[in-house]
Amino acid sequence: MDIHEAMDEEAKHAAMQADELKEALLEKDRAYLWHHITPHNDHPMIVASGEGSWITDMDGNRYLDGMSGLWCVNVGHGRKEIAEAAAVQMTTLAYSPLIQSHVPGIELAAKLNDWLEGEYRIFFSNSGSDANEVAFKIARQAFHQRGKATKHKFISRHRAYHGNSMGALGATGQAQRKLKYEPLGVGFSHVPPPYCYRCPFGQTSGACELQCAQAYEDAIIWEGSDSVAGIIVEPVITGGGMLVPPDSYLPKLREICDKHDVLLIVDEVICGFGRSGQKFGHHNFGVRPDIVTMAKGLTSAYSPLSATAVSAELYESFKESGPDSHFRHVNTFGGNPVSCAVALKNLEIIEREGLVERSALIGRRMRSRMKPLLRHPNVGEIRCFGSAIGIELVEDKETKHPASATLVAGIIADCKARGLLIGKNGDTVPGFMNILTLSPPLSSTDEDIAFIIDTLLAVFGAAGGTSE
Ligand code: PLP
Repeated sequence: MDIHEAMDEEAKHAAMQADELKEALLEKDRAYLWHHITPHNDHPMIVASGEGSWITDMDGNRYLDGMSGLWCVNVGHGRKEIAEAAAVQMTTLAYSPLIQSHVPGIELAAKLNDWLEGEYRIFFSNSGSDANEVAFKIARQAFHQRGKATKHKFISRHRAYHGNSMGALGATGQAQRKLKYEPLGVGFSHVPPPYCYRCPFGQTSGACELQCAQAYEDAIIWEGSDSVAGIIVEPVITGGGMLVPPDSYLPKLREICDKHDVLLIVDEVICGFGRSGQKFGHHNFGVRPDIVTMAKGLTSAYSPLSATAVSAELYESFKESGPDSHFRHVNTFGGNPVSCAVALKNLEIIEREGLVERSALIGRRMRSRMKPLLRHPNVGEIRCFGSAIGIELVEDKETKHPASATLVAGIIADCKARGLLIGKNGDTVPGFMNILTLSPPLSSTDEDIAFIIDTLLAVFGAAGGTSE
């Protein structure tokens, strides 16, 4: 056996060992691991590592993580300085509950105030769902303490997603997600979303009277404004299909809330931390929410952490309500010092590398270079909010009938075969999961963005004849 044959043998042996290891892991996966939300999956991709905008599976295949995981790895994968910050904090103080205080918790609460550009008190939890539960409980308690205990309801929107727990799922406006878990938290109702492409009010974009915002006021009146505590909105509905409202929608909701003494809760779990091209999504619309909830990009998902930011006035109203007026809510892990240290480092990176501005630039570039996709017979509309993109697929541009699940799945599979992971969102009502989504890391390089666009152009070219 010569040297080359020996090297070939060694490589074959290593490949066999890798195959065996993977098979053993898959066997354990099949036996023990329950995957999130997907149908029972016997052959999941086992992701082994990540660097920048790319992840690598156990077979060594590289994929551009076009959704930043679940819209969350804003600073990209493999940031050693975040790992170092976590290690330093773990060896200094790994845990202390926020019944007392700790340095990273204090520093992060102050930093979030800078980012929010307003005065807020910060309550830390673990997940976006937790952050929304906290918002609902604070809103209800605040009205109790102001002598308006009947104000307990929340109004949300169809197609919105606000989390997996009983209250947050109650606020969610996607029927199929809720079906087998009802009854959920009580007191949640829904109005139609701002969805200009398929306006629920039959209006034309730019020539309407914002009936979608008016629907909120009508719902408050019909429910009885004495019974409504708050409304909850994402700045744009992201997971429900990238539904971008007209510019005056959120300001009009602010007016309606003020008029009826209803709290405006803005869910920034996806839109926050630069995704929208501003620090927070609501900054694009010039409104000041009463409560802001956040998670995902807060730590770029390097560690679990969420926050509910409550306006200083609302917080003061708790203090002024006398003894026993404190918020009776605790969670063991919320505001864990390691997660707070990770968040501080994450925000430092976003600021140092100008990733909020980069997000806006990525969005502009994708929007402009993706225009040729609109010539494809199945591309109905492309919607962008910062670097979050939705491509609505239809069967027919005239009827706007949603594209079949097979077509949507085929495009996603073709992108994956070419090394690009993209998402699928919309409504869980069968037939309406027809919106492809992208939200790449804000740190994506010019080459990464070119790769995303070139891949999409190639896939759609192959699927229906579009080319630049
Ligand atoms: N709110 C929005 C807008 C979300 O997209 C999500 C999750 O995707 C949540 C809340 C819930 O966050 P988590 O999954 O961290 O509980």
